[in-house]
Amino acid sequence: MKKSFMTEAINLKNYPLNDNDSIVVMFSKQRGLIRAVAKGAKRPKSKLGARIQMFIANKLMLFEGKNLDTISEAQSLNTFSKIRYDLDKLSYSMYIAEIVNLFCSKDYNKDENSAEIYELLFKVYDLIALCKTKTELLLLALRFQLKLMDILGWGIDFETCSVCQCSLEDDVIFSAQTGEMCCVKCASKGFDNIKINNKIRLFMLEMKKAKIDSKTKYDEVIDENFANKCFLFMKKYIDNISNKKTKIFDVLDSVSVG
Ligand SMILES: [Zn+2]
Repeated sequence: MKKSFMTEAINLKNYPLNDNDSIVVMFSKQRGLIRAVAKGAKRPKSKLGARIQMFIANKLMLFEGKNLDTISEAQSLNTFSKIRYDLDKLSYSMYIAEIVNLFCSKDYNKDENSAEIYELLFKVYDLIALCKTKTELLLLALRFQLKLMDILGWGIDFETCSVCQCSLEDDVIFSAQTGEMCCVKCASKGFDNIKINNKIRLFMLEMKKAKIDSKTKYDEVIDENFANKCFLFMKKYIDNISNKKTKIFDVLDSVSVG
């Protein structure tokens, strides 16, 4: 008999397996990223069909499989329904799902961080569903980027020069390639990348330290343009390490096959 297990999970994406069944990719509290078959989910009256939509959190019972698990029962915990009525909310939620899917692949990220990432994901979708302005949305996406990278060990150190180890106090130089910051004095030693204004550095540091659902002194004064700049800065950084990461995994794959 197949082994069953219970977990809470948030749907990241789903796609058809055949005429009746779908495959759901979800991030679970207990096991990280899971891919599971939702049998009969494509039939018009299927209850499961509604529960496997993107960004819904469910309590599930699953049967373990070699490559794919199978959903036996699903009970929704939160549908984050207001995400679906707003194109911006939907786009940023998809971006978040995409980076979780990319960075938390089942084989490489065991379950050590899964509960922490699950809580973060649950909170960010809950807050996105309720947020009122584009600036709020951008700040949530930014905080998620900073915190997820931190949990996964790719966090940026906004406080120490990576070359001379002095504590950063002014404008800094950042390498999106390595994710390292250095002071202006060390800039000639190979860092020819982006100059970061001290205000931005302090703001990002505060965003990184604050809980995702707590207010900071910046929340009321930041405008959309500033929030977008910081979001895009992190997106570029994440794009760079995800390329690097794919290459690292390619090497691992070829080693294990060879
Ligand atoms: Zn330095």
